[in-house]
Amino acid sequence: MRLRPHHLLCTQSYSGKGYDNAFVENMNRITAALRKNVLVPVEIVFSADDLCSCCPNMIDKSLCKDNKKVTSYDKKVTEYFHIEEKTYIYQDITREIRKKMTPEILEDICGDCEWYPVSACKTVLCKKN
Ligand code: SF4
Ligand code: SF4
Repeated sequence: MRLRPHHLLCTQSYSGKGYDNAFVENMNRITAALRKNVLVPVEIVFSADDLCSCCPNMIDKSLCKDNKKVTSYDKKVTEYFHIEEKTYIYQDITREIRKKMTPEILEDICGDCEWYPVSACKTVLCKKN
């Protein structure tokens, strides 16, 4: 599975809402695979990924219409959590991210995301367990 850096956050906090049916169906399939009780390798890519592939915001096969905004999310995630373009075990890297996450960091990364006020991102990502 291929994920861009900030989708390491979105896939943890996704709660069933999305841009359209195709996006939600794909997101449901991907998050179900990631949330199974097995270790899942994910390849981090600094480009469009397996979530983008079914998103109506793609303006061609490789570019998000909000590219400037989403690459800023990606950049901040790589900087805060030292993410590189390589393969990680999803459960390990997301656990590390949650350990280091604070409300201030989350606000800085994705405070202007349209889902930030309406989704479970803050509750899920800032929870310490
Ligand atoms: S606020 Fe947006 S970018 Fe941030 S984790 Fe939630 S859905 Fe993803
Ligand atoms: S909004 Fe952009 S970055 Fe997010 S899933 Fe859609 S195409 Fe990918």
